Amino acid sequence: MTGRNKSCWCGSGRKYKHCHLRREEEEPLSQQRIEAMLIRNRRRSQCMHPEAGSTSCGRAVRAHTIPRASTLGEITDQTNHVLSFYPGLLTAPLYEGPWRVGWRRAATFAGFCSNHDNATFALVEDRAFGATGEQCFLLAYRAVCYELWMKRWLDDAVPGLRDVLDRGKPREEQRDIQQCLTWFHTGVRRGLVDIAYWKEHMDRALMSQDYAQWAHCVFTLGGHLCVAGTGVMTPELDYHGNEIQTLENLGDRVFPLALSMIVSEGKEVHIIMSWPAETGVELSHTR
Ligand SMILES: [Zn+2]
Ligand SMILES: [Zn+2]
Repeated sequence: MTGRNKSCWCGSGRKYKHCHLRREEEEPLSQQRIEAMLIRNRRRSQCMHPEAGSTSCGRAVRAHTIPRASTLGEITDQTNHVLSFYPGLLTAPLYEGPWRVGWRRAATFAGFCSNHDNATFALVEDRAFGATGEQCFLLAYRAVCYELWMKRWLDDAVPGLRDVLDRGKPREEQRDIQQCLTWFHTGVRRGLVDIAYWKEHMDRALMSQDYAQWAHCVFTLGGHLCVAGTGVMTPELDYHGNEIQTLENLGDRVFPLALSMIVSEGKEVHIIMSWPAETGVELSHTR
């Protein structure tokens, strides 16, 4: 039995009487209230451009992660909505989707001020896609920035979740929930360190216009685009089943594989995989 004035067993650093004492008697929060709390507690985003500064940048705007006119525009309905499995919140289970989302909100994140957003990504938003190294790099850069932004948010969100997710639950369940959150947070923090490293790596390539530091593999498909997405993965195997990295050691830095999509003027769909060239990994499917 934990003493009232001792540190709480959950590791919050607070006294037991101010933390888990009588947690099982507390009123559980509804999913809507948890979501509202997560949004309220979200840190105000700063522009993520390497030259960002408090005077040069305005507020971070909703920056698109999928090219707006060429690609997202292909999948909107007549009222400019898309169906999204990802509402931008943590607590709604994916199986409850998809949700209808206005295309200006779909697949966006408050990652860049409007000046840097427009200037940095003009080559993929306003120009025809020609699979140049610079265009592929920019698509990957945005995916990596989004991943970093998301991981920062998750990192910030966990302490708040610790206080509310186990309210009204029996003690054994409280321990299970807190244990899951500890593992989850450990993974988020490790991922955050890695993705921050690669984002800085890309910042340097962006500023020096040395786009060859990132390797790309472009798949071009015909037919009509009906689904779009973007993101970052950390694959362990290449196409041939060879191990390219291992994720099980928390001390090892892992590298990302960014996945992007864009529709070119001829309505061809391009799926682009991007990864750091220095890894020496070859993912070409033509071999
Ligand atoms: Zn506690
Ligand atoms: Zn900016």
